[in-house]
Amino acid sequence: MPDILKTIEARDPVEKEFHQAVHEVIESVKPVLDRNPEYRHSAILERITEPERVIMFRVPWMDDQGMAHVNRGFRIEMNSSIGPYKGGLRFHPSVNLSILKFLAFEQVFKNALTTLSMGGGKGGSDFDPKGKSDNEVMRFCQSFMAELFRHIGPNTDIPAGDIGVGAREIGFLFGMYKKLRNEFTGVLTGKSLGWGGSLVRPEATGYGSVYFAAEMLATKEDNIEGKTCLVSGSGNVAQYTVEKLLDMGGKVVTLSDSSGFIYDEEGIDRDKLDYVKRLKNLRRGRIQEYIDKYSAAEYTEADSTLDHNPLWNHPADCAFPSATQNEINGKDADNLIRNGVKLVCEGANMPCTPEAIDRFLDQKLLYAPGKAANAGGVAVSGLEMAQNSMRLNWTREEVDERLQIIMKSIHQTCLDASAEYGDPGNYFIGANIAGFVKVVNAMLDQGLV
Ligand code: GLU
Repeated sequence: MPDILKTIEARDPVEKEFHQAVHEVIESVKPVLDRNPEYRHSAILERITEPERVIMFRVPWMDDQGMAHVNRGFRIEMNSSIGPYKGGLRFHPSVNLSILKFLAFEQVFKNALTTLSMGGGKGGSDFDPKGKSDNEVMRFCQSFMAELFRHIGPNTDIPAGDIGVGAREIGFLFGMYKKLRNEFTGVLTGKSLGWGGSLVRPEATGYGSVYFAAEMLATKEDNIEGKTCLVSGSGNVAQYTVEKLLDMGGKVVTLSDSSGFIYDEEGIDRDKLDYVKRLKNLRRGRIQEYIDKYSAAEYTEADSTLDHNPLWNHPADCAFPSATQNEINGKDADNLIRNGVKLVCEGANMPCTPEAIDRFLDQKLLYAPGKAANAGGVAVSGLEMAQNSMRLNWTREEVDERLQIIMKSIHQTCLDASAEYGDPGNYFIGANIAGFVKVVNAMLDQGLV
């Protein structure tokens, strides 16, 4: 194991997810380091793996019964060499420093790939919005922002949504920031359309992921038409992945949430998707309810005692993991391959374990890592920032066209980098190398800071 990994593991031994994300990048960029000895002399790996700043704070809030609670708030300001820190906020009980450092680290390279000027950051809290009333969520967001506002700004650090943070939370966070600063700026992205948001931002991650998949298929003179697809998750990314797959003639047979998954052999059509959107976005219900409405579908409860996730064990052509980290392990990867899957496109961040990635690369599947495939969300956040700066709004067609151009460009950049380093078509090393080189060159230009 390279020394740098040993040092990182010894320094923060419990940060498993962060080690995993760093390991993936460092392994891929070895040939780049060999070609560029100046990277080693300027301790570039040591610098790129150490956040520029980590902010941790107490978030006290009161529930509807008048009981006080305390959660932990975080913002990791990872790297600002190519632009202000940019990345989402995650509210989920699993959130800790390791998970946010891995997400912030990934975000640095993802943002570099978008072609826009954005550094990398990530934040959030171990607060669980599930089962909380709108008022409780509002009080939590206000308390969270009562500290975070000191550290962010439209030219400093621009948070957005992630798991557990959608339009509702962004609204409450923005309202508090505006009150405290007495400024109406584009300090957050993912805002609602009526007050500074961008068209296509809600759709962007899912659409972008499918645009990327279509680009990969086009290299084999193939397309989405008629492909059976497994999609996990049922939040923002999954919903718009399904929508774009339907637009392109694909068939989607699965969706999930943390309680379990549904398998609908007939396919999730537009009406069913509309039902899921209402269920998840308005009623904030569970995916299990899908089978009450569509009885031909099957529901399987999540079972953490299993060594695999049965969602990934169905016949299909493509898989779009769009739920969360490490949701596809080596066994799941074997199941996918055995079931005929030829394309895996990561809508979530780091959904495949290293064992799963090895299997996909061995089999020469079309495998797109999240930092390339799911970059459409943050890319349209960058477009939201541009529109806010100009105080103008682009049309849906204009934003969607820019998104498609960006996804095509990311795809090409990954292909070019993979070919330059002797493994054409390996999007995994292509994405890591291209993102890394862009960030590192900016860091070198700016001196030892
Ligand atoms: N949380 C999203 C991501 O993982 C979006 C971040 C943003 O829009 O800033 O890229």
